[in-house]
Order: sequence, then structure tokens, then C-alpha cells
Amino acid sequence: MTATFESLGLPGPLLASLAKAGFETPTKIQAEAIPHQLAGKDILGIAQTGSGKTAAFGLPILAALQALPGRPRPMTARAVILVPTRELAVQIDEALRKMAGPSMRLTTVLVLGGVSRYNQVQKLAKGVDICIATPGRMKDLVDDDKIWLSETRWLILDEADRMLDMGFIGPVKEIASKISWKRQTALFSATMAPEISKLAEGLLREPVRVEATPQGT
Ligand code: ADP
Ligand code: MG
Repeated sequence: MTATFESLGLPGPLLASLAKAGFETPTKIQAEAIPHQLAGKDILGIAQTGSGKTAAFGLPILAALQALPGRPRPMTARAVILVPTRELAVQIDEALRKMAGPSMRLTTVLVLGGVSRYNQVQKLAKGVDICIATPGRMKDLVDDDKIWLSETRWLILDEADRMLDMGFIGPVKEIASKISWKRQTALFSATMAPEISKLAEGLLREPVRVEATPQGT
């Protein structure tokens, strides 16, 4: 039977904005990952580009954020999404805003290298729901006490294999080490190289493994 977004357990307001964004049927990785994430499980996702990872990790966070009272505290981020490139960060930010819809008043910040820190620091000072970041700049701001990870409840590592290739493993581990173990973590990668398995072992707790790639190809 084909899953629907409703059958995955997503709340009503989110279903409405999803429909508006033109999302009708969940992709395989979304159908497999979302129910586990809504249940609080860590996820180890093996999925190629175009499989729909953004909604797979984004929708459960948006669902939880909608149910949280109040605004984020100054200097904190409720969720941190680490990505290898600026382009990817911008895409994810746009996709999450579209899925959230205007009524949620989602606050996000892009923490990216190669551009001025000033606006990033200003936004962080107010506190944000979701921080989407490349690891190098994020580590700098954490080290300089411009963002506190004490209240962060979700950590996502998107395209972890590319972050590894780009030499971001050090900052990724350091950022993760500053976030409480009570967090929920999801790691997505196109491949399951030994280094990725090792990273996942260090960062995830009894993860559910989901795959969008066909077996044996
Ligand atoms: P990935 O991160 O795995 O490369 P994306 O999350 O960027 O994939 O999604 C790829 C494209 O598919 C995007 O344009 C996105 O809007 C679209 N998409 C994702 N999930 C769905 C869905 N359930 N229904 C329709 N379009 C979708
Ligand atoms: Mg993606």
C-alpha cells in the first residue's frame, strides 16, 4: 500500500502547507524515516541526491516545533542542520520555509563561510528555530560563544559523505560534542563507507537504518 503524509503521523497544519507546496505522496526515504523520527528515534539514512531527504528530516522537526510553546531563547537554536555547501544550505532553508508555511513563523539562520559574520551573529542573538550551517563557520561561532547549543534538540548531518570528503569531520564532531545527548540525531549519506559508519557510531544512538537505494545494484 502507498503511504500518505497523513498516514505517517504528521499533524494537520503541516499537511495543509505540504499540499500547497505540491507534495502529494511521500518518497521512499520519507515514508521510511518520518514515522521513526516522529517516535524520537535516531536515523541512519542511505540515500542518493533527489530522493527527498530534506522533507524526510525536515518534516518531523517542523512537526515538533509547531507543538513547542514560545520562541527560542536568545543565542540558541532548537535544531542544527550541518551541510557541506552553501548552495545546499540555501536550498534547504527555502524548502523548509515552504513546507512550514507562513503561519508557523519559523525562524531560521544560515551560518555559512565566506560571507560576513555580522548578520549571522545578529540573527543568532535573537535565537532561532533552525540553524542551517556549514561546519567550519559554525565551529567558529560556537568557539566564539556566538551560539549556545545547550537547548538544541535536533542535529541533522546531511550529505555526510561529502562533508567527510571536504575535510569537515573535525568541526562536525566538535559541534556534535557540544550538543546534549538527549538530542535526536539523523545522519544522511549517499554511501556507507567505513568512515561514515564510524562517524555514525560515534554520533547516533541505536539508529534506525533506512535506505532509498535499490539493493544489489
Ligand atoms: P535530496 O536532498 O535527497 O537530494 P530533495 O529533498 O532536495 O532531495 O528533493 C528533491 C526534489 O524533490 C525537490 O525539488 C523537492 O521539492 C522534491 N520532492 C521531495 N519530496 C517530494 C514529494 N514527496 N512529492 C513531490 N516532490 C517532492
Ligand atoms: Mg538534499
